[in-house]
Amino acid sequence: MFVDKATIEIKAGRGGNGAVAFHREKYVASGGPDGGDGGDGGDVVLIPDANMSTLMDFRYKRKYAAGNGADGTGKRCSGKRGEDLVIRVPLGTVVRDRATGAVMADMSATERFVAARGGSGGWGNAHFATPTRQAPRFAKAGLPGAEREIVLELKLLADVGLVGFPNVGKSTLLAAVTRARPKIANYHFTTLFPNLGVVYAGENRSFVLADIPGIIEGASAGAGLGHDFLRHIDRCRLVLHVVDVSGSEGRDPIEDFETINRELAEYSPALASRPMAVAANKCDMASPEQIERLKMRVCAAGMDFFPISAAAQTGTQELVRAVSYKLASLPPIATFEPEYVEPEEPEELPDPEIDREDGVWYVDGGWVERLVQNVNFGDYESRMYFDRTLRDRGVFQRLEDLGVEEGDTVCVSGIEFEYKR
Ligand code: GDP
Ligand code: MG
Repeated sequence: MFVDKATIEIKAGRGGNGAVAFHREKYVASGGPDGGDGGDGGDVVLIPDANMSTLMDFRYKRKYAAGNGADGTGKRCSGKRGEDLVIRVPLGTVVRDRATGAVMADMSATERFVAARGGSGGWGNAHFATPTRQAPRFAKAGLPGAEREIVLELKLLADVGLVGFPNVGKSTLLAAVTRARPKIANYHFTTLFPNLGVVYAGENRSFVLADIPGIIEGASAGAGLGHDFLRHIDRCRLVLHVVDVSGSEGRDPIEDFETINRELAEYSPALASRPMAVAANKCDMASPEQIERLKMRVCAAGMDFFPISAAAQTGTQELVRAVSYKLASLPPIATFEPEYVEPEEPEELPDPEIDREDGVWYVDGGWVERLVQNVNFGDYESRMYFDRTLRDRGVFQRLEDLGVEEGDTVCVSGIEFEYKR
């Protein structure tokens, strides 16, 4: 079955931990801090690929993870950065955040999209050496990478979408004017796959034509396969309505024309209001009266009318030329504006727990975890903010009440400090 929507889990790499290390040399009693930084976690990156036309691959593989950053080590050795994971997606894929449904990226307008950012590597204690703090005993833990479920949706970037009843000759027309080679057969729903082709109508006059098979009555209400396929022409600039003017399947061409138009309007008023041209196909089997009758109806609606035979390839070049000129005067393909916002953290986090073990005070959980993630310990202002927050929110007072002493080691969410009053 055809896939045009896929949900995958992506996970960026975790940042490596910074190292707490001290430089030791034979004749140096106490060396300086030289713990290196942890490497950043790798990103999950999406890249559009014009040669891909389906999301089929994502049916078989649903979980994607980038590499973790390595921990820093002594002698100022930084950990290696985690490897990025590059996922190729078809050009035109729309990426949504599963949790919010918001559009994160439109892969027709983006060359490279970081869908999940790797966690920053923690800073090693080498960063924290200052004139007054010669031997900092703290280093920063690496942060976790972003993790989320994303929904990929493929909407083909067709300039022109072919609509019409099954068997009117859409695939035949596509094959006649493009290099696409769709399946052609005279039974319904053969072409379960939307086919795209590039039409060369002359220099700078190429356009993308998509065969959208399977529109049937009731499709806009989700009754048939048509609904899914119709999503693929949401963005096309011109709708080319193919009608079997010969009525070879026993239906009336004018009724066909009106039914499909109704379907379009029900599915998407925006799409129904796009410019439409009509290709009256199978002219080789139709009488001049049949052709004239449909032509009157179409022209009354103010649309261009092209009598063709896709099978005999008559009238098709005229059609292609006229369409390419028409397109030149139409606005470009619409793209989505990403409206992605990071999901909000819950407002009130509880106070951290304080424990003592082997002489070390551990302050963990609640809001301090978030605080530590947001503080850049290499930055003075940032450190002051950290300090102030711990004081203002009563952590120092709680430590005092529990009997903390000057010089004790306090470990706040993985980062060690020497307690100073
Ligand atoms: P689709 O369902 O609209 O894609 O229709 P197809 O392109 O698969 O064509 C359905 C049938 O109509 C096939 O048997 C084609 O050979 C036939 N057909 C398509 N175009 C013409 C045409 O211009 N003249 C005639 N006589 N038959 C055609
Ligand atoms: Mg077809």
